[in-house]
Amino acid sequence: MERHLSVRASIHRALLDGPVTAHDVSRLVGIPEHDVASHLEHLSRSLKHTGEELRIDPAACLDCGFEFRRRQRFTRPSGCPKCRGRRIRFPRFHIEPQR
Ligand SMILES: [Zn+2]
Repeated sequence: MERHLSVRASIHRALLDGPVTAHDVSRLVGIPEHDVASHLEHLSRSLKHTGEELRIDPAACLDCGFEFRRRQRFTRPSGCPKCRGRRIRFPRFHIEPQR
């Protein structure tokens, strides 16, 4: 439990300094990249109480510009549904501080 709290606090710190990708978060905080998405989901819910906001720069296809706005907000899609391109820009995250 304490480990979880400190991981989430570290992610919070990384996102305040962001924008960062899930890969950046995994490297900065020392957790597996595939665990980052669920932490971000929890974090985005808990931020509603603090006045801070999790901002997401969505994943996008580098070939046609398609943006993944709804699906897989926190993870990297493997391919573009529009042009079937495989060069996908990673989603980036940061926290907008409380005003
Ligand atoms: Zn595309």
